[in-house]
Amino acid sequence: NEKILEVENLHVSFHTYAGEVKAVRGVDFELKRGETLAFVGESGCGKSVTAKSIMRLLKPPVAEIKPESRIICNGRDVMKMTGKELYAFRGDEISMIFQDPMTSLNPTMKVGKQIMESLMLHRNMNKKEAREEAVRMLKMVNIPGAEKRVDNYPHEMSGGMRQRVMIAMALACNPKILIADEPTTALDVTIQAQIMDLMRELKEKMNTAIILVTHDLGVVANFADRIQVMYAGQILERGTAKEIFYESRHPYTWALLSSVPKKGNESKEELYALKGTPPDLILPLNECPFASRCEYCMGICKEQNPMETSITDTHKVSCWLMHPKAPKVKSFYDREG
Ligand code: SF4
Ligand code: MG
Repeated sequence: NEKILEVENLHVSFHTYAGEVKAVRGVDFELKRGETLAFVGESGCGKSVTAKSIMRLLKPPVAEIKPESRIICNGRDVMKMTGKELYAFRGDEISMIFQDPMTSLNPTMKVGKQIMESLMLHRNMNKKEAREEAVRMLKMVNIPGAEKRVDNYPHEMSGGMRQRVMIAMALACNPKILIADEPTTALDVTIQAQIMDLMRELKEKMNTAIILVTHDLGVVANFADRIQVMYAGQILERGTAKEIFYESRHPYTWALLSSVPKKGNESKEELYALKGTPPDLILPLNECPFASRCEYCMGICKEQNPMETSITDTHKVSCWLMHPKAPKVKSFYDREG
C-alpha cells in the first residue's frame, strides 16, 4: 500500500509573551492511500496544530515549524514549498474542513460560486462546466434541491448543510488527502451521524485518505482504520482501531475510553472526567507528560519520558508500564469487569 504522506520529527512552537510554547514535540506518522487515520486527544494536545502543519497553514512568526521537521507528501518536500507551490498543493493534493464551516465559506458569496472558483482554478474548467460540476458535487453530498441550493448564500443554509457544502468544496479538486478537524463537533447528534456516514461513503467512492481530528474517541469507532492518541504534543499510543478500542495499553487511552458515552447516554457532560490538567508546554518536560494525572505513576515516570514500545507492527505505546520490570497493572478491561 502506497505511502502518500510521511511526517517525521515534527516540532511546532508558538512564540508568546510568556515564552515558547512547544505545542508539538517530535511527532511522526505516515498515511497510506485511501486510509483513515484519527488524531484523538483533549484540546491543546497538538492534534489540530499537527494537522495544520501538514498544510503549512500556521502563521509565522508566532507559529514556527522547527527546521528539523520533515513533511513529505507524494514524494514532495512540503517544508520547502514556496507560497505559490503551497497554494496549488492545497486543493490539488490535500484539503481541510473545519468545525465551523463559516471559517472556510465566504459569507458574501453564493455557495455554488465558491465551489466553481475552486474548480476553475484547480481543474481548469470553464464557467459552464464548473457550474454543472458544482451542482453534481452538491448532489453527491446529499443536498436536496441542489440545482436551487447552488445559488444560496451560506447563511440561507442550516449548520449541517453548510458542513456538507464545505465537504463538497474540499473534495471539488479530488484531493488525495482530506483533513477533517472536528467536522461534527458543532452539530447535533443526528446530523453528526449523517455527516460521518457521508464522509465514509465519499471515502469509499473517491479513495481519499482522511485524517480525522477529534477530541471524541466515540466518533472514530466505526470510521478510522488507525488511531493515534495525542497528549501534550506527543503521541502516547497508536494502533489500529481494534487495538486502541480492545487492546489499549496506555492509561491515558483508558481514561479516554472510559469517557466515551455509552449508547443511549450521549450526554457530553460525562466526557473527560479526568482530574487535573495537562502539563504547561512552556516548561521543559523531563517526565512522562501524563505523570501528574496518572493513577499508575511510578518513580521512573517522574524522571524520564518513556520511549515508544512496539506491541505489534501497528500498535505502539509510550508508557513505563511496558517495561519488562514494571509491576503488572490490572488493565482497564479487567477493572471494567
Ligand atoms: Fe502513567 Fe508512568 Fe505510564 Fe506515564 S509512563 S502513563 S505516568 S504509568
Ligand atoms: Mg483543535
